[in-house]
Parts: sequence; structure tokens; C-alpha cells
Amino acid sequence: MKPIEAVYTPPSAHWVGDGFHVRGYFNVIPDGMRRMSPFLLLDYGAPEEFPPADNTRRGVGPHPHRGFETVTIAYQGSVAHHDSTGSGGVIAPGDVQWMTAGAGILHREYHAEDFARAGGAMQMAQIWVNLPHEHKLTAPRYQAITADRMGVHEFKGGSVRVIAGEHAGVKGPAATFSPVHMYDVELKSGASHRISLPAHYNTALLVMKGGLSVNGKQASADDFVLFKNEGEKISLEAHADTRLLVLSGEPINEPIANYGPFVMNTPEEIAQAISDFQTGKFGHLDE
Ligand code: MN
Repeated sequence: MKPIEAVYTPPSAHWVGDGFHVRGYFNVIPDGMRRMSPFLLLDYGAPEEFPPADNTRRGVGPHPHRGFETVTIAYQGSVAHHDSTGSGGVIAPGDVQWMTAGAGILHREYHAEDFARAGGAMQMAQIWVNLPHEHKLTAPRYQAITADRMGVHEFKGGSVRVIAGEHAGVKGPAATFSPVHMYDVELKSGASHRISLPAHYNTALLVMKGGLSVNGKQASADDFVLFKNEGEKISLEAHADTRLLVLSGEPINEPIANYGPFVMNTPEEIAQAISDFQTGKFGHLDE
């Protein structure tokens, strides 16, 4: 059994631009960025209603990233993006976009036009996944993982959608640069399930909906459960219809130097990233 280190209640939410109202869960974990390595950030936007809007593009304007990956999961509402290479797309409910910023990308993220016009509930998450030193300056790429490509393990009263890694012999579609498991778990009230994850991986889960017992401890909607790096088994028993995001990864034991949207290994590499951004090496994107 994997012991629980802490159950964190939800931190207060902040706005990313004017489109994403998120809670930064790793901000409440002491030294969260290192404690959760290879995961650097978890921003979760709980369901929130947006009124219909014309001629507005709610979201966050052009900004760069270098040295890691951003994983965007749309649960309700659609997230659009486009970048300085001319690429773009829409992440629809059930879809995941796994973007490798690598050497650098300049992009914007906003409510998709159709969703913005109609209005409705937005529910999304963004996870930042670090890159090992040797891959930090890899060429940028996207993995558009649509809902139909997800690995699915079904059981009585629930399912595990495997985004990355593996569960019960089912593999997730995401290609990663270090070992990572990422699951979207749904349990009907009364259902139970067991998950096994390596003892030395940093492992946590976010309760997005419902309530359950996790290895005997209670957790409610918007709670974040951090496990100790011991044992393998996680036992889930839902006492309401429940949805979870499970993160588990092998720690990348390298120095972290971070500044806003850049995550490198040394202050010199951060200075280089800032200089490259300021001199236009990330390309150009209109406001
Ligand atoms: Mn971004």
C-alpha cells in the first residue's frame, strides 16, 4: 500500500489571462516543483460558466515556453491555440494536447470560437512536464490526442482512460521523454478499483468530482492527494460518482532553474532563453 503523505484542500483560484480560472495545486506543496518532478505545474480549472460572447477571445495572449512540455486536458468546453510556426487547433472535450515546447515556442491559448459564441461550462487542466537535460532543446512538436485514441481500461462501475504510460496492460497514446503515467479515472458511486504504481515515482491524484476513500483516507472534490514514495498499491472506493486525474512519474534528478514560462537547469540557460525571446528567436505572433 502506498501511504498518503498529505491531502491538500483546494488553493484559491487565479486567472490565466481572462479565460482560465485555475487553482495551482503545486503552489501549496512545499517545493512542489521538485517534490512532484517530472511534473512542474498543475493548473486545474473547475467547471465554471461563461456567458455567450461575440468578438472576444477569452484566454491568454502570446507567450513563450522553453525546456518542458505542456499538457492540456479539456473536460468541458473547447480550448483553441495557435503558435508562431503557424500551427493551431482546437482541444475538444475529452481531448488532450501534449505540446513539447522544447527549444521554444510562442503561442496563445483561448476559448474556441464556437464555444465562446455559445457560452457554457469550461473545465480544463494544464500540466507542465519537465524535459531531461538532453532533450530540453528538442524541436517543438504537438501530440493531438483525441478522445478516440485514448487507451481505455474498463471495469465494473468505472474506467481508466490512459493518457500516458500504462495501466492493466492498456497503453496510453502519449509519447514522453521520461517515464510518466497519466490517467483520467471515473468511478460510479459504490465502485472500487486498484491501481499499482512504482514506489519511487512521485505520485498524486486530484479529485475533480465526487468523493472517495483513497487507501482508507477520505478525499472530496477539488482535494489533492499526495502519496509517499513507498509501496505500490492505491485502493480507490467511490462514495459518489467520482472523477480523478492521476499523475505518477519517475523523478528527473537534475537542477531546476525556472523563470516564468522557461524551465531550464541553470541560471545561464534562463538568461539565454530570455535573450532569445527578446531578440525574436521564438518567432512572432500578433496580439
Ligand atoms: Mn502556454
